[in-house]
Amino acid sequence: MSIHFFNSLTRTRELFVPLEEGQVRMYACGPTVYNFAHIGNFRTFVFVDILRRHLKWRGYRLLHVMNLTDVDDKIIRDARAAGLPLREFTEKYVRHFWEDADALGLERPEVAPRATDHIPEMIELIGRLLRCGCAYHSEGSTYFRIASFPRYGVLSGSKLSGNIAGASERVEADEYEKDDVRDFVLWKRTQPGEPTWDSPLGPGRPGWHIECSAMAMKYLGESFDIHCGGVDLMFPHHENEIAQSEGATGKPFVRYWLHAEHLLVNGRKMSKREGNYYTLRDLLERGYAARAVRYVLAAVPYRKPLNFTLAGVEAAERRLKRLNETFRRLREAQTVAGATADDVTTIAQIRAAFGAAMDDDLNTADALAAVAQLETTVNVALAHGTPTESFKTAALAAFDDVQAVLGILDPPEAPLLDATIEALIAERTAARKARDFARADEIRAQLAAQGIILEDGKDGTTRWRRA
Ligand code: AMP
Ligand code: ZN
Repeated sequence: MSIHFFNSLTRTRELFVPLEEGQVRMYACGPTVYNFAHIGNFRTFVFVDILRRHLKWRGYRLLHVMNLTDVDDKIIRDARAAGLPLREFTEKYVRHFWEDADALGLERPEVAPRATDHIPEMIELIGRLLRCGCAYHSEGSTYFRIASFPRYGVLSGSKLSGNIAGASERVEADEYEKDDVRDFVLWKRTQPGEPTWDSPLGPGRPGWHIECSAMAMKYLGESFDIHCGGVDLMFPHHENEIAQSEGATGKPFVRYWLHAEHLLVNGRKMSKREGNYYTLRDLLERGYAARAVRYVLAAVPYRKPLNFTLAGVEAAERRLKRLNETFRRLREAQTVAGATADDVTTIAQIRAAFGAAMDDDLNTADALAAVAQLETTVNVALAHGTPTESFKTAALAAFDDVQAVLGILDPPEAPLLDATIEALIAERTAARKARDFARADEIRAQLAAQGIILEDGKDGTTRWRRA
């Protein structure tokens, strides 16, 4: 197995080798829960989901942590405007986030910690930074001293903090007394009316960056394999995470940094601030299927910007309809015994091409080209009559790969209700009476595909049982 990733830290494509054989530890920056996530956010989360699915499919055990940012300036502002305590306000958006994630077929991370449940861990980490001279108090707040960390800028190439570089909307909004304008806040002193925690640092609340360092190291250790997020987080957030974590431990924090490019609308980043966004709900209300949205977000490799259009979702719906139809016909197809060498070789080649594309820095575009080839091969086989047992088995295994890694196919149908089964049997009996044996066989195969076995009695009645 040779998975390669483009590592933002080294700016090169590298062979992926985890610290512990067979085990991957990874951290993904999660949502800020003050509103519905938009589908730009979900482009990044779908990328993370495909990354996790691919690692698991390749046989790794996985420990994936994704935080929920449930305290920051915007959350405090909006909770106050809603007249709700912080936790009550964020609870609602945490729930909505998971609902949307489920609808998009995102697997749940093994651990999804909330920032406000980890204040002691953050205080402890800040204490370590103070002890080693990487942090200092000023005017009731605590700052990271960038001058103490010569490697600052190693990830983004930027030596400056956001308030000078000004690249990100996520730069610290609050300005207090700092020794150096580049320094960033670890602990903010209490402001009137804001949520506050007592601590040896004085009453206050954590800065945004420290939460990810504290929670990542708590669950994954001081050094771990993969850290990911959207490309807008590279600076200053991830740069600051490296400085805080490595400043405190003296060890390399993360081996591979993976960043997803943005979802764009007419060439501009989809964002709440620009107002050019759709939530998943907006799209579902317009009648689009969540799977089609997932397909759109998955189809362009994560390091390429993706321009979002409704026409793109419509094209994805048509594409998925055809693919699911092929998959259904294959599942329901009757087979003949035996094998032809050609069939099985072609399917094996397609499966290898699919795996190789995904190993190549998650090249979903090439992987979907292999899926298209699978679809054509199956359609041709079905058009030529009854496929062999071994062809069907191999092709179903290829569809299983696609589903395990990309999660774009329809979920298996719900078990048939007895009444539905009996209605189909009645239709089949009528078809047989009318000597429409093709239809009768089709119904038998459709039921067999769902594990329903028919036993025809001599008197023309049919009994059924579940396999
Ligand atoms: P937030 O909820 O703002 O903390 O963002 C959650 C995740 O979505 C982060 O990893 C961001 O980098 C990512 N993100 C935000 N906007 C976009 C976008 N337009 N395209 C892709 N990812 C985005
Ligand atoms: Zn983070």
